[in-house]
Amino acid sequence: MSAKHRRPDGLEPIETASRDEISALQLQRLQWSVRHAYDNVPHYRKTFAEKGVHPDDLKTLADLAKFPFSTKTDLRGNYPFGLFAVPRAQVARVHASSGTTGQPIVVGYTLKDLDTWAGLVARSIRAAGGRAGDMCHVAYGYGLFTGGLGAHYGAERLGCTVVPMSGGQTEKQVQLIMDFKPDIIMVTPSYSLVIAEEFERRGIAPEDISLRIGIFGAEPWGEGMRKEIEQKLGIDALDIYGLTEVMGPGVACECIESKDGPVIWEDHFYPEIINPETGEVVADGEEGELVFTSLSKEAMPVIRYRTRDLTRLLPPSARSFRRLGRITGRSDDMLIVRGVNVFPTQIEEQILRDPRLCGTYQIHLQRDGHLDNVEVHCELQHHLSNSTSLQERAAIAKELQHHIKTVVGISTQVKVMDFETIPRTLTGKARRVYDQRPKQN
Ligand code: ADP
Repeated sequence: MSAKHRRPDGLEPIETASRDEISALQLQRLQWSVRHAYDNVPHYRKTFAEKGVHPDDLKTLADLAKFPFSTKTDLRGNYPFGLFAVPRAQVARVHASSGTTGQPIVVGYTLKDLDTWAGLVARSIRAAGGRAGDMCHVAYGYGLFTGGLGAHYGAERLGCTVVPMSGGQTEKQVQLIMDFKPDIIMVTPSYSLVIAEEFERRGIAPEDISLRIGIFGAEPWGEGMRKEIEQKLGIDALDIYGLTEVMGPGVACECIESKDGPVIWEDHFYPEIINPETGEVVADGEEGELVFTSLSKEAMPVIRYRTRDLTRLLPPSARSFRRLGRITGRSDDMLIVRGVNVFPTQIEEQILRDPRLCGTYQIHLQRDGHLDNVEVHCELQHHLSNSTSLQERAAIAKELQHHIKTVVGISTQVKVMDFETIPRTLTGKARRVYDQRPKQN
């Protein structure tokens, strides 16, 4: 959105519009998007027909529930460009998601889509407290991954000075932050801790780091991690959410004044929460799987895309749009340990209750006879590493085991290790879980 459409406080009018205005805009855009997908993408024409629905059936927002879902499998099945709704020559850029298993998925953007994306990331950075004139250090990976370029063009759009550092080279990251004195950092939460640790190693105190704001996303993280990052870097840490299939980072972002979950930019993405087993839409506030329909995307509209992210929709607070609750995890990240459903973030929360432990951890699962065996590896904070006796470590482990047992509900063995025993992920997302149990059919 150009500067002339901004209010004096920098917000776009739609961010504080009435719910009626938002719903009217959503319906109009939804009708366009569903028709655009139907008219131009054979896959949607086919799945709509199979479900016996037609774009003309979409008369209210609730009618969307009659339409079929789309999934990652559909994206894979149409690799690389089968879901594009415009001729390839009108696609200005492609991105691809890492895809931990199987084929990567490819997405495309027209120039208008790229413009919308930059505008929404600019809106996100602004919500997080960034302003024109700030310097923004981007340590998300550049390349096919949407993180780097997505953050980059959004920061430029807001009027920031962008440092396109990308991921990795931690010493250089820290050196550049010390030399250039950026105000904002955009990076995965796990890599921000690696950077924070390098500051610690150099003996640089949080108050001597220029950064004011960190905008973190691309992987799940909880309140404990927020506190840890805020303390170590001396910043406000805000949550940005997005996924390649729907756009990339900037589908939703937290506001600095409320820090109460990412605000969904509902003028461009229509959210639903469904029961992942039955596919039924559940009420706002109820936990389930997040589903998105794009409202303005030209190159690759997505209709009822199942994100596999588990969360809930929260009522508007700092903006007129609804918010996302914390993403507890992806449905495919969920571990079943002796019949108990566990998300890695639940264990993370327990680790970070103990100020003696840092935010890097691993969960190892093995099958011992018929029983699942869970080992949690965690690390002491840098300054405690040498001075903590074996007895003290055993006491920390026992306490953590107890918290995990009472809060999460599973028995674990905890290993309290020295700082930096666990290898750090320098680019991309941290790997927390090592599941060596034999696969069940
Ligand atoms: P991939 O699917 O290969 O991991 P993406 O970069 O598109 O590639 O990942 C998007 C996913 O990352 C989301 O579906 C979600 O699971 C996770 N994610 C992104 N941002 C957040 C966030 N702020 N909190 C929790 N999870 C997030």
